[in-house]
Amino acid sequence: MNMELSLYNTLSRKKELFVPLNPPFAGMYVCGPTVYGDPHLGHARPAITFDLVFRYLKHLGYKVRYVRNITDVGHLENDADEGEDKIGKKARLEQLEPMEIVQYYTDRYHRFMDQLNVLRPSIEPRASGHIIEQIEMIKKILEEGYAYISNGSVYFDVTKYNEKYAYGKLSGRILDDMISSNRELDGQEEKHNSFDFALWKKAQPEHIMRWPSPWSEGFPGWHLECSAMSTKYLGEQFDIHGGGMDLMFPHHECEIAQSTASTGKESVKYWLHNNMITINGQKMGKSLGNFITLEEFFTGSNALLDKAYAPMTIRFFILQAHYRGTLDFSNEALLAAEKGLKRLSQAYETLQKIQPTENANSSLVEIKDNCYKALNDDLNSPMVMAQLFECARIINSANDGKESINESDKLILNEIFQVFCFDILGLSFEADNNQSEIIDNIMQLVISLRKDARTNKDFVTSDKIRNELDKIKIQLKDTRDGTEWSVVE
Ligand code: ZN
Repeated sequence: MNMELSLYNTLSRKKELFVPLNPPFAGMYVCGPTVYGDPHLGHARPAITFDLVFRYLKHLGYKVRYVRNITDVGHLENDADEGEDKIGKKARLEQLEPMEIVQYYTDRYHRFMDQLNVLRPSIEPRASGHIIEQIEMIKKILEEGYAYISNGSVYFDVTKYNEKYAYGKLSGRILDDMISSNRELDGQEEKHNSFDFALWKKAQPEHIMRWPSPWSEGFPGWHLECSAMSTKYLGEQFDIHGGGMDLMFPHHECEIAQSTASTGKESVKYWLHNNMITINGQKMGKSLGNFITLEEFFTGSNALLDKAYAPMTIRFFILQAHYRGTLDFSNEALLAAEKGLKRLSQAYETLQKIQPTENANSSLVEIKDNCYKALNDDLNSPMVMAQLFECARIINSANDGKESINESDKLILNEIFQVFCFDILGLSFEADNNQSEIIDNIMQLVISLRKDARTNKDFVTSDKIRNELDKIKIQLKDTRDGTEWSVVE
């Protein structure tokens, strides 16, 4: 079977065969969170998307170095070059040290990502821990002539860069169009052009987070940290750079310009972007009043939610859409995800108990191949899920005696669940199984009480147990091997 992985490269706008620069090593950099608020659904999607990439590359045998940064300095309000630092502002409002804010929200980010079964990256560098590397990169860009100093700040010279390289090639923007719509903005007099961006900003007196540099006491521009840290940990050229689509411009465009200006080389081979999550068809945002944090999802404490949803339901919900498609949140969609996950989990449980038949099941042959085909085609997770549901259908049908599953089919089905459902999609039935285990234990107790009653010819009690269970749609079936219970749908 063809085991070659194709990925959609945002830069070339087509699917390309994944060939790492130094096999068996694969390097991946993903823009992580700016840690100034509680993680929400918008954080979960890129984390789960690139967790899938990470898991699948490892499954294919690559030695993956996955770097995901923590932005703890330099990200100003409205993603602009002016305004307050997002973390500095939160620190001022809460009367805390900026690093207390950073620690608090980084810890919470980790806790919720763990619950979503997102694997931790290989390296998780912080911007504030790499000020020296960022200053060195600015020096290089200045030496190459693609930046200028203005009043203690350093700006990237986009016009100069565009004479040699193409600025805007990732996002499809053309500099000429940007020049014609160029308008002077307040507080941007230091820049030669409004589309130039800050590499270093001189700190205003009220600015808390500041470091010495050759140009002024100040702080690095937001885009610079990713160029500096990806170069440090993955080299001047590496395989995959990922992030949410909203980061394509200006963030990733500026990253390309910085890295290319300082080394003269194209740094990233494959650019991958996940699409956004909408809530009832609307963009999610604090100002729109439709902002739901992960904690609220897990506890149900938000007016937009009908109930609490388990972390695995959220993971299932995100993976049932292809990462490049939009994904709309609604209670209906999450309930459907919950049901889907339950169906898989019940089928998996049934599989463990099922008695193998003599005959093999012919429809199983292609399922494993189909799963690989789906993943190799730009990580088509919904197609993998469709294959898992086909497994569930076969298991249920075999359990009803309508299809056969022999001993080796059972092994294949268990392997499909282990590899695709648990290892690669990162789904888990644990919480669900715990609960059903408890319920089953209670039912075994009820069944044994009924048996005792019948042995003692206490038919009033034994009938009462059966009738009461009937009322709550639990059916008992006496067989030669004992009494079985099931829920009537
Ligand atoms: Zn970044």
